Amino acid sequence: MDKQRDFVLRTIEERGVKFVRLWFTDVVGTLKSVAIAPAEVEGAFSEGIGFDGSAIEGLTRTYESDLLAHPDPTTFQILPWRGEVDPTARMFCDLTTPDGQPAVADPRNVLKRTLAKAADAGFTFYTHPEVEFYLLKSATPGPDGYEPVDRAGYFDNVPGGTAHDFRRRSVRMLEDLGISVEFSHHEGGPGQNEIDLRYADGLTMADNIMTFRSVVKEVAIEQGVHATFMPKPLYGEPGSGMHTHMSLFEGDTNAFYEEGAEYQLSRTGRRFIAGLLRHANEIAAVTNQFVNSYKRLWGGDEAPSYITWGHNNRSALVRVPMYKPGKSQSARIEHRGIDSAANPYLAYALMLAAGLKGIEEEYELPAEAEDNVWALSASERRALGYKPLPSSLDDAIEHMEESELVAETLGEQVFRYVLSNKRREFEQYRSQVTQFELKHSLDII
Ligand code: GLU
Ligand code: MG
Ligand code: MG
Repeated sequence: MDKQRDFVLRTIEERGVKFVRLWFTDVVGTLKSVAIAPAEVEGAFSEGIGFDGSAIEGLTRTYESDLLAHPDPTTFQILPWRGEVDPTARMFCDLTTPDGQPAVADPRNVLKRTLAKAADAGFTFYTHPEVEFYLLKSATPGPDGYEPVDRAGYFDNVPGGTAHDFRRRSVRMLEDLGISVEFSHHEGGPGQNEIDLRYADGLTMADNIMTFRSVVKEVAIEQGVHATFMPKPLYGEPGSGMHTHMSLFEGDTNAFYEEGAEYQLSRTGRRFIAGLLRHANEIAAVTNQFVNSYKRLWGGDEAPSYITWGHNNRSALVRVPMYKPGKSQSARIEHRGIDSAANPYLAYALMLAAGLKGIEEEYELPAEAEDNVWALSASERRALGYKPLPSSLDDAIEHMEESELVAETLGEQVFRYVLSNKRREFEQYRSQVTQFELKHSLDII
């Protein structure tokens, strides 16, 4: 740790860094930032930087509103979009109370606690997300609503298009920030793109996702377009998922891999999936946290609507990707439910907790879904035991309220905060009179 701190202080000196941004995330997943002068960094390492947490969504109750931000020196990076002159750097922070206790409502701390639980069971949690998002011409709608930057589709090579430049610039910036990118391509919707990050441990990845969102927003501003991670921004077009590939390692051994097992998936892997399925409804208000998330889940276009698993089955909530011979290290499972607007710290904590519960309690994995679940009739699905994911945020909240797993993983304060925040969002939504209703009913009734 001291070595890391020295490295940060030396780099600040050598590169002439003028501002250091301290980053943390609120409960909803919004990035927060406070800039300090380089001279303050040493003190920030030893004592933390104090701030009033009561102003930040979900962070504190009023009587413990003083918080300290402690920068994590391993996350030090110079922000490429700020340019070479008077460079600005950033570090992610852990939040504590003035007496040094981890702040109970710090999402990074929620994930760290869950990772520690996995470590107690001998596991390291690795993830890699495929992040989908839309590029729109502007953040304000034109006469025909929000306009995507192009009309291209899946894997399309768009000649001279915004998308190429956009992805190239974003990937370059991510690499400059130490975040490796595996793939990037045009996705199915007009103006929709996807960038897949190379796997990393759960905490690094949650930090990377927060950085990723900033990079994409910054590049969009630079290029005069608007980027959105909203789960379903355009009616009738695909939503933006954040499919997440996961594996557990015991030392150097991939605990999801078993030679000769079906799909080379070990018993640990099967139980992990069983946990994800059994608790899918309880964690949905976090993996799919907005009213709009349910427009994606129930709007077709390859987003899952039913709690099933399958091998290469794109209608399933959890998929076991094809195993590449000789690559036991890359055996993994893919969660297709989580969307691009989730708070990655809380969502990954809950996905991990659900999977660990499956391992601990030795849950039995139900039969795999071999068919296209969307194409079945309701009675066929019932007969096969395929249960639906929540149909709305309201429905998801009801499931979460009853969940011991979620309460325990998030901790009482975050649990209550998320619930009240989501209830408020749903109440506001329910009382809206939408364009749909006006078009549908104004004249005819
Ligand atoms: N956009 C789809 C979703 O909402 C996923 C498409 C894909 O398979 O990558 O999850
Ligand atoms: Mg995709
Ligand atoms: Mg995928």
